[in-house]
Amino acid sequence: MSEPPRILVLGAHPDDAEYHAGGLLTCYRKELDATVKLISLTDGAAGHHKRSSEELKALRQKESADAGAVIGAEYLNWDLPDAHLEPTIKNRDRVIREIRSFRPDVVLTHRTCDYHPDHRAVGQLTQDASYLVTVPKVVPDVPPLFKNPVILYMTDLFTRPAPLRPDLVLDVEPQLDSVIDMLACHRTQVFEWLAYEQGILDQVPQKPEQRLAWLRTWFQNEIAERANRFREALIATYGEEKGRAITCCEAFEVSEYAAQLDDDIRTKLWPF
Ligand SMILES: [Zn+2]
Repeated sequence: MSEPPRILVLGAHPDDAEYHAGGLLTCYRKELDATVKLISLTDGAAGHHKRSSEELKALRQKESADAGAVIGAEYLNWDLPDAHLEPTIKNRDRVIREIRSFRPDVVLTHRTCDYHPDHRAVGQLTQDASYLVTVPKVVPDVPPLFKNPVILYMTDLFTRPAPLRPDLVLDVEPQLDSVIDMLACHRTQVFEWLAYEQGILDQVPQKPEQRLAWLRTWFQNEIAERANRFREALIATYGEEKGRAITCCEAFEVSEYAAQLDDDIRTKLWPF
């Protein structure tokens, strides 16, 4: 039996990992006992209409740690300023250091086609780090990797200049409770800022148990379009009947700039 896989998420903000890949991360922890580490490159200090940035930064560190604890994963927010992330050499070296020290089999990140500049920057940083992690003279203080990890771009619905190619799709209905529990830890976001942004702050219930049910409905609405968008891939993966019936899914594109999914790697990393 081979070692359980190691999974690293490089997201832009605290809550991106679970919003875009919480079902897969839950599967990795529960079904494969994988070591999962989630990182938000930014501190999340911009995401609020009322709280001060300093307060928010501290709160969001705790929220991330709580969300990671739901699935037994480490969750860190780096200190780079929210909404100001740039694909600089300094940041790229930091990403290279992280990938080399954690030695992941899979890195999950955003695509460079995305509405949010921070998401695009993380995608660029990860993409640019993917070959350089093997080059010894780049960031020479950390030993290079011999092989690239697989890089998976997390679910998004953007289409320009190209839509996400669903190389891998996952029915996440069975993991939905876990995803909601993780998202619910990001209290300043799902119950405050995002609700404020959408003009539905007055609909957020006060009682904790009602909040979870409300969040579940909200999230299912948020991701409802995914299953239709990736329907063909769902049918190809799960067969006609089940593929047509799936309502909650995640989809991932294998980056062409890093390791590819050959049969061995697929068996180890995608047994779902
Ligand atoms: Zn984000």
